[in-house]
Amino acid sequence: MKITIDRKNCLGEAVCTAVAPGYFRMADDGKAEIIRENGEEKDVRDLMDAKTLCPAAVIKIDHM
Ligand code: SF4
Repeated sequence: MKITIDRKNCLGEAVCTAVAPGYFRMADDGKAEIIRENGEEKDVRDLMDAKTLCPAAVIKIDHM
């Protein structure tokens, strides 16, 4: 899985970092950034939760 976020529309609510801390962190500008863009199969549930719960709907997960 390839994870991307549209940073310019991120609201900085930090839901993604709470749900999938191995993949997202909050950057100094108050928006989320990706730590690891290749999602492992074992983390699919957390990643899908982050995508679904993101209030700005800016997380994209492509199944490759
Ligand atoms: S959950 Fe969405 S809006 Fe909130 S910090 Fe993460 S990417 Fe940004």
